[in-house]
Amino acid sequence: MQLLLVEDDQPLASGLQKALRSQGFTINHVSTGAAALHVIATQTPDMVILDLGLPDMDGLAVLKKLRKQHAQLPVLLLTARDSVQDKVQGLNDGADDYLAKPFDVNELLARLRVIERRLSSTKSSQLTLGKLVLDTLEQSVWLDGAKVEISRREYMLLKTLLENAGRVLTRATLEARLYSWGEEVASNAIEVHIHHLRKKFGNELVKTIRGVGYQLVVPPRGAQIP
Ligand code: CA
Repeated sequence: MQLLLVEDDQPLASGLQKALRSQGFTINHVSTGAAALHVIATQTPDMVILDLGLPDMDGLAVLKKLRKQHAQLPVLLLTARDSVQDKVQGLNDGADDYLAKPFDVNELLARLRVIERRLSSTKSSQLTLGKLVLDTLEQSVWLDGAKVEISRREYMLLKTLLENAGRVLTRATLEARLYSWGEEVASNAIEVHIHHLRKKFGNELVKTIRGVGYQLVVPPRGAQIP
């Protein structure tokens, strides 16, 4: 789950990033509405946490603009303006939830999990390829009916590959899904995760496209896989 945090209060933003990363979220941060709209257009996150009081534009204006592009992108509003009016307005404009500052980070986590669950249940909760099943609700992976131990990054990598089965994904695309901006990424990080996935699910699962990236192999109908 990749989040975009739009918040101009730097100490709050740093604290939230730290807390959410420790809970397994990939989280990127911008401080202005304009930067948020740019990121949403170019590197769409799975969910947006949007402060209403931004320096360059009103958070509700950001929400309206992003809704025109992404009707389904979940948005959780944050605001210091603890008025019923803002809340009603925000929800009318298509926010999924709302949190008034100051709030407890555990409360935010609980709300995010509710949105995450809703997301998983509106899509399909299972991605399958042959005997491989990835359950987005439980965040678990099964091979031939047996649960496979998998790290958070391996899970996210496998999920991204399954969602884009048959498509070639560049290393840069995969890194952007797995890591937050500014996070230290070893140059061979993706390679290492792919290596682990192959060990767990078979060498044939992922094809290396030399100099480009990786592709999850969709076997021909009727073939035995993995
Ligand atoms: Ca603010």
